Amino acid sequence: MDYKAILTQNGYRLSQPRKQVIELLQTSEVALSPQQIHQALQQKNCELGLVSVYRTLELLTELGLVSVVYDPQRNPGYMLSTVGHLHHIVCQECHKAIEFSASNDIDQLVQRVEQETSFQVLDHFLQLFGLCPDCHQKQIAGE
Ligand SMILES: [Zn+2]
Ligand SMILES: [Zn+2]
Repeated sequence: MDYKAILTQNGYRLSQPRKQVIELLQTSEVALSPQQIHQALQQKNCELGLVSVYRTLELLTELGLVSVVYDPQRNPGYMLSTVGHLHHIVCQECHKAIEFSASNDIDQLVQRVEQETSFQVLDHFLQLFGLCPDCHQKQIAGE
């Protein structure tokens, strides 16, 4: 995804804090909390306050550049999105998260729920938890 282009299109600059947060998230296979992002940036000598981290994440999430991904204890974390709206499957052991698309399946479910409830569905959030291949393998080996 062209982060700079999307920021520019929406009237925002790729400022140093935004660039630092994006570059950090690019290196992570797991969702990071604002505190973890703040600490990791401090270790790299980036002077970015926790409030700025929160603000930056809020903007990037609003623009669809970053997704909220929950850990197995249901704490929210943040990951870079690769192409707009996707869902995540998260490993319960190592918290590694992978994106997947489910548009057709979700459409069917939404139609059924609308029929059953007479609600008009406007949005959805779907996330799956499981074991990644590595952790599954370790579990089998440990038994
Ligand atoms: Zn795992
Ligand atoms: Zn969806």
